[in-house]
Amino acid sequence: MDAKLLEILVCPVCKGPLVLRKDAQELVCKGDRLAFPIRDDIPVMLESDARELAADEDVG
Ligand SMILES: [Zn+2]
Repeated sequence: MDAKLLEILVCPVCKGPLVLRKDAQELVCKGDRLAFPIRDDIPVMLESDARELAADEDVG
């Protein structure tokens, strides 16, 4: 995924920074503990499509 694209992406919920998890192909908001999926290299920045992180999940 393009690093420059990642720089301009923010969480749609809190407008905070996102952490890229390459292994999972997800963008994670630590504040909201939400993981947004990356499908075919395109981040899906929809709260309705986001996954809630498990309580014991490490967000790096
Ligand atoms: Zn957020």
